[in-house]
Formats: sequence, C-alpha cells, structure tokens
Amino acid sequence: EGGGNMAASGAGAPEGLCGPERQGAGGLALLGLAPSAPSCPHGPALLFVKTSQGEEEGRRFYACSACRDRKDCNFFQWEDEKVSETRLAAREEYNRNHQPPFTHRQNVERYKNFVLLPLSKRRFCQECQQLLLPAEWEKHLDHQFLCDISTAQLKSPSQLLYPLENKKTNAQYLFADRSCQFLLDLIIDLGFRRVLSVGTPRLHEMIQSKASQEDFRVRSLLLDIDFRYSQFYTEDEFCHYNMFNHYFFGGEAARETCRKFLYQDSGERVIMVTDPPFGGLVEALASSFKKLMAMWKETEKEGHNNQEMPVFWIFPYFFESRILEFFPSFSMMDYQVDYDNHALYKHGKTGRRQSPVRIFTNLTPSMIVLPVEEGYRFCTICQRYVSSGNQHCEICNSCTSKDGRRWKHCVLCKKCVKPSWFHCNNCNCCALQNHTCEKTDAVCFVCGKAGHKRSTCPSLSHT
Ligand code: SAH
Ligand code: ZN
Ligand code: ZN
Ligand code: ZN
Ligand code: ZN
Repeated sequence: EGGGNMAASGAGAPEGLCGPERQGAGGLALLGLAPSAPSCPHGPALLFVKTSQGEEEGRRFYACSACRDRKDCNFFQWEDEKVSETRLAAREEYNRNHQPPFTHRQNVERYKNFVLLPLSKRRFCQECQQLLLPAEWEKHLDHQFLCDISTAQLKSPSQLLYPLENKKTNAQYLFADRSCQFLLDLIIDLGFRRVLSVGTPRLHEMIQSKASQEDFRVRSLLLDIDFRYSQFYTEDEFCHYNMFNHYFFGGEAARETCRKFLYQDSGERVIMVTDPPFGGLVEALASSFKKLMAMWKETEKEGHNNQEMPVFWIFPYFFESRILEFFPSFSMMDYQVDYDNHALYKHGKTGRRQSPVRIFTNLTPSMIVLPVEEGYRFCTICQRYVSSGNQHCEICNSCTSKDGRRWKHCVLCKKCVKPSWFHCNNCNCCALQNHTCEKTDAVCFVCGKAGHKRSTCPSLSHT
C-alpha cells in the first residue's frame, strides 16, 4: 500500500476480514467527552480506556482529541492522576503558546490590506503558509515564497495551501473537481440554500467562488481545524472547529455564528456536509455531529420536531455498520467519491481505480440521483441508484455490492460476499483463499486436536 490514512485503514485491511468490527481489537476504547476533561491546545481531551489482556477494568486516561500521532500533540494524563498547580500553570501557558500567531480577526484585517496591494507586492510564504504584507517580507527572506498572488488564487486557498497529509492528524484529501461539482449540483438539485461544510474546504471554496454570480444562491459556512483558512475567510464564513470534541476555538462568538447560520430561514434548506479524516473515532465524530444536528433542531420551526437536519457524511464503505450504529436513519449511497491528492483512489482516464469512499445520508435514497454517464443506474426494487457492477441479488433482495464490483451470494453465509472470497469451513465464514484461519482455542470433538472444528476434522475425511 502507498501509505496514507486511507490506505492504512482501508483498501488493504478489510479485504481479508469477515467484517470491519474486528478493527478495534486493540484493547483501547474511547469513552468520550468527560465534563471535567483537561484541555490541550486542541480543546478538551477525550477519555480513553486501555485494557490489557486478562484485565477487566482497564486504566482510563485523557489524550488529545484531534491528533492520534504523539508527534503532533503529546497531551496525556491518567484520569486518576494528581496534577500539581505548577504543572497546571505550565500546561495553561503551553496551550496559550500553541495558539496561532494571529487571531482570526487579525487575519481578516490582514486580508483586507493584502487585496489592496498591487499584484507585484502580493506574496505568499510557502514555509509559513501565510499571506505576507510588505513590512513582513524581511522576516521571510530565506523562505520559499510565491509572488503575484492573483484574486483567483485567493479564491482557491485549497490550491494555494499545501494539503496537510500527515496521516493521523489532518489527513487532508481534497475532492477531485468532478466529485466536488457532483456534490454541489446534487445539493442545488435537492433545493438546498445553505451548506454547513464540516471539514470540506474545497466544497466551501467552490460555493464561495460562485457566490458572486447573480443567480447563485447557495451559501456556505466552513468549520475546520485547519486555521490557515482564516486568512481567506471572514468570521461569518469560517469557524476554527474541532469535530472530534465539538470545540469552537473562537468561543461563544464562533458558536453563535454557527447557530445563526443554521437558524437562517427558520432552519430550512440547510444541509451539513462532512468529510472527516478516516482514522477511526467514529463515535467521537458521531457525537459532535449529533450536537450540530441538535443545534439545528433548536430552531423555532413547527414541523421540524421529528425531523433531522439533512446530512451527507462522506466516509469509506467499510465503516457502514459503525455509522449506522450511531445514525440508524442513514443509508449508504453507491457513489464513489474521488480525490485529487490521493493517487490510489483517483479515477484515472485509464486503469480506473475504485474509491472506497461513499456518501452516507439521512435523505431518502431515491432522491440521490447518481450520474448515469458514469455507469450508475436506478434499481427499482431497492429504490436507489447503484453502481453499474452492483447486481440485484434475488436471495438477499437487495443490491448488495459495497465496493462496486459484482458480489456473489454464499448460501452458507446467507449473504453476498466479495467476488474474491471463498467459503472457509474452518472459519465458518467467507474469506480470501489464502487467509490464515482464525485460531480456535477450543479443541476438535473428534480428534481432540486444536486448530479446527469437528466439521473440518482431517480424520473424518478418511472415512
Ligand atoms: N475532501 C474534503 C477535504 C477532506 S480532508 C474537501 O476537498 O473539501 C479532511 C478535512 O478535515 C481537512 O480539511 C482537515 O483540515 C479537516 N480536519 C481534520 N481534523 C479535523 C478536526 N479534528 N476537526 C475539524 N476538521 C478537521
Ligand atoms: Zn436492487
Ligand atoms: Zn445475496
Ligand atoms: Zn460463505
Ligand atoms: Zn479459514
């Protein structure tokens, strides 16, 4: 595999497993947001529990919600640990020092001054990822910088900024233009007017850059942990936000901006679109999204009461059961979301590689029209659009493929499985032919040896 977040949690790993449930077998579990949680520079830390083998209780600890790589944030504290006053003070100072050099307000001011500059004086420091005002040039002389930053470039910050690809923290995988355009067209066709873009800077940018066109009525608010975007958007267009702990870095004012955005038009015609990093922590994401949905629900609008805010949650298909656990009203669409900076999942002109990323939504599946020119077709029985390779299985009575390939029905498993799988009598489920069978601790009833069950006992095959 080519490395990267998607590869690590995706394409390679689940192929040999019977189900994604086994991924979390590491003895580390998320307990969630505790009311008295200590904070790191990324807001309140999350509570985890680590259990070692044979141990029941496990020890609880707090760790950074946003960074799963210790190199990015090494915050750690046992839940029962006594933290001295000195350490608390040092921590506070550390948190203060690890805030961005400029506030959002300052960045907005800087931007206003920047656009007044003639082209020849518009510089962007690539090392600091920052727009430079002439007075600051001196400090960045030995840095690489771009010159003549055009208005078009300012309108596409996701092209100007380098994608933060560090696997575990930001994992910025930007939508390929085609997928971004598809999402926006879909949103417009469904009649939405506002998009709460949570971790979707490129979608936000596409909406923002069209906002000046006369007949374009869609508005967007970006919530993202990547503070670099505050250089390009006002406080009404961007909130510095952590989606793993529902933390607004800008405090009550930023939260209010978000609330107001959701409340406009009595909360009508707004959809949340989110494309989080795939490193797990589905429950943390789900809990934040529920809070955003609850914020929307507070709008004083009769009839809303039993409704949910419409959501597109963009995530790999092998997280389907996890997402449905938290959002039973969601269903997974067959549309394959493509990315620009992830070679593995890019749809090339030739050798089209399949993307594992899908749209999960609480909208009625039949409303989500997928592009026929890309091979999607409508299944009248399932009442949704499916991939061209996705065959309706008569036995399951549904279009069962998750990955776009044609799946086959296994009568023993009583379900459809990947085309590359075969039924293994030892494991009692379908798996790759060259898999290593799960170790069965129990011994065989027939011969008394370990490693297989009675049904596959080698001594039986002689009789
Ligand atoms: N495909 C999207 C980008 C998805 S990449 C697009 O093209 O618009 C994941 C995004 O989530 C990135 O923008 C990243 O900055 C953001 N992100 C990562 N961790 C986050 C966190 N803890 N809270 C909020 N946003 C986060
Ligand atoms: Zn079907
Ligand atoms: Zn089937
Ligand atoms: Zn089987
Ligand atoms: Zn087996």
